[in-house]
Amino acid sequence: MDIEKFIQEVEQNNLKNIVQSISIPRHGWYNYEVLSSVANFVEEKFREYGYIVEINEFSYNGKEYKNIIATLKGINSNKDWLLIGAHYDSAIGSPGADDNASGIAVMLEVARIIRKSPIAERIKFVAFTLEEPQAFDLKFIIGSSQFVKKFKKLGHRYKALILESVGYYSDVKGSQKLPAFTKGPDVGNFLGVVGNGKSNTLLELFEKVKEYVPSINLITYKAPMNGWLALETRFSDHAPFWDAGFQAVMLTDTAMFRNPYYHTSQDTPDKLNFPFMEDVTKALLVAVLISPA
Ligand SMILES: [Zn+2]
Repeated sequence: MDIEKFIQEVEQNNLKNIVQSISIPRHGWYNYEVLSSVANFVEEKFREYGYIVEINEFSYNGKEYKNIIATLKGINSNKDWLLIGAHYDSAIGSPGADDNASGIAVMLEVARIIRKSPIAERIKFVAFTLEEPQAFDLKFIIGSSQFVKKFKKLGHRYKALILESVGYYSDVKGSQKLPAFTKGPDVGNFLGVVGNGKSNTLLELFEKVKEYVPSINLITYKAPMNGWLALETRFSDHAPFWDAGFQAVMLTDTAMFRNPYYHTSQDTPDKLNFPFMEDVTKALLVAVLISPA
């Protein structure tokens, strides 16, 4: 398999167009209509790229919400899945360019390119809803929790790769902060890959990715105790997978530890670094292409 050929297909312009198309406040409660139209946008893209789209719907606070699932042959064509996921809702009042239009854009670009690989039949793409804290109860990661509960019961098994804020980058010294009691670089120019104790093989996979995408600075991190010691490591859709006993990693620019516009009205597309996002897309593509069957 010619991995180099797949990597070369990544188009920075696609990433930019998708981020620009969906970076409008789309909070699950306050912007319900916008969230629905962004859901339609994501569904259409998956269909355009040749996938079957199925919806995992549930109600919350009296409204209907949907996780969007895209596969080549339908959700029942397989039980062991490599899952690539990203949430499409935003925090209250935020256009959410980094958080998480960036993750959706990378996921869609990988979907477009990987379509031609035999591996594509093993992949389930999921755009999750309601990852962000909700209006009344401040609960979060609601959509992915619903998803994991439902499909675990049906006997599905997952290795999950979750994209959470992957577009913010800085070369400036001091631009990177870290969770309490952890050590790491103080320059925000890397992609973090966060796993738990069970996710060794996924973390090792991303260590190998470096050979194929030398331009990316990629740092793997194993969160002890399923992340309960540094709660921020649980702040995305990988956490329900960890809790259900599945392997999962979060790919992230570290969000609030780097991006000063995190969860504000200033989280807009012009703040993002698209060459960095191109590298993130390549890294994820390679990880999927070299992942053992
Ligand atoms: Zn967020």
